[in-house]
Amino acid sequence: MRMQLATWPEVETYLRTSVGVILPIGSTEQHGPTGFVGTDALTAEMIAIEVGAKIDAMVAPTISVGMAQHHLGFPGSMTLRPSTLICVIQDMINSLAHHGFERFFFLNGHGGNVATLTAAFAEVYAESSFGTAASNRPSLRCILRNWYMGEKVRKISKEAFGDDEGSHATASEVALTYFGFPNDADRVARVPLDPARAPTGTIYDADDYRRQFPDGRIGSNPGLATEALGKQLFEASVEELCEDYCKFIETA
Ligand SMILES: [Zn+2]
Repeated sequence: MRMQLATWPEVETYLRTSVGVILPIGSTEQHGPTGFVGTDALTAEMIAIEVGAKIDAMVAPTISVGMAQHHLGFPGSMTLRPSTLICVIQDMINSLAHHGFERFFFLNGHGGNVATLTAAFAEVYAESSFGTAASNRPSLRCILRNWYMGEKVRKISKEAFGDDEGSHATASEVALTYFGFPNDADRVARVPLDPARAPTGTIYDADDYRRQFPDGRIGSNPGLATEALGKQLFEASVEELCEDYCKFIETA
């Protein structure tokens, strides 16, 4: 059930049988000439909604802007500083905990969010450890799962794309969005990529990124992305994350 499409009595009823919630988190940043700016938020959200529907789990609103300072050299990219994003995550968790949610399953679509999410979880746990959380607050548990890290998902992308998967604007994430948003895919998928596979390297700030990777991709050839492969990746990820979520909500 999507929280945004639920009424408050429905959320209250849900809490009588479950204290678990899925929180999709992504980013708003360039994904090369053939990938959507919203890729990381769209992928996390579409998978989260399907997982929620399959196993009757509540899905919170998506955090669509993440930590992406290094992408600011490209129009459309937005970022929250790590310190801001930590506050956003912490406040969302505390809001939901206030109503009785205790198990927070963050379904992530952006590698750049991982360090900040981990720090935010530590801030939440520190409130309990220092005794600064409300005395009646139950033990909260937070977990992070990246949709693209599951065993089955990685197997599909390895077989389909090999070294053309890359590390930014990957063939897999672009394929997933082409499956989710085929009409918009028709428009952008025809844009030529030169070179077919983008270069790789280390990145620092936004200017450095744009200089080294002028079209925005790193190491990838999203020209291989198709709607059919996106469907396979979607189904594999949903299956793996349903299992992960069910295990997680049993956590003591
Ligand atoms: Zn991405």
